[in-house]
Amino acid sequence: MKTLSSPRSFFLLAGLMLSLSLGGGCLAAPDAGAPGETLTRLKAGNARFVAGRLEHPNLASERRSEMAQGQRPSAVILTCADSRVPPELVFDQGLGDLFVVRVAGNVLNDQIIGSIEYAVTVLGSRLVVVLGHERCGAVAAARDTFAAAGQAPGHIQSILESIRPAVEATRGQPLAATSLANVRQAVDMLRASKPLLQARVADGSLQVVGANYELESGAVVFDEAARGAK
Ligand SMILES: [Zn+2]
Repeated sequence: MKTLSSPRSFFLLAGLMLSLSLGGGCLAAPDAGAPGETLTRLKAGNARFVAGRLEHPNLASERRSEMAQGQRPSAVILTCADSRVPPELVFDQGLGDLFVVRVAGNVLNDQIIGSIEYAVTVLGSRLVVVLGHERCGAVAAARDTFAAAGQAPGHIQSILESIRPAVEATRGQPLAATSLANVRQAVDMLRASKPLLQARVADGSLQVVGANYELESGAVVFDEAARGAK
């Protein structure tokens, strides 16, 4: 994250932290666009991807120059590291459009929540999409490992542990059900995350939604209807 290393951004971030430590939990951030409008734009981009009519917006040199002065991504995408789920392509977006956080199994930990908090509070992102996908290897590995009462090698186990609640909640159900439960768990955790995200979800300035990516069709199916978008 290059902006964190530049002196100006460092002081901006330091100022933010100071303000938060002094009790200014709702420091005004730039507004990167209303969540509903951003969601509509992502859905339109995904429709182009599904139809094979990518426009590859915001990739010209003018956009690079504009973004060199600062970023204001309208959406945060938390998704799996799976090579088949690249958010900028799936949503047909360009430079500076998406703040992408990727980790196998789209799980949460403090660093990942902190990354999302940074996008929301400093960069002004007002929409967070937790994007799971079909046939996720991390979710499948968690199911298989826990079913066998086994242990994954190395640091992989830590990822599986994050998926464990979804596995236990969907015993006897297909992989897709576990994947959906895993997405919903992350959505619920982000919506309830204190001190930065919960207040913004409560006052409507931040929307957190779940979604599932279908590998063959390329479609992103949002979970908002089933869960009630906040
Ligand atoms: Zn995956």
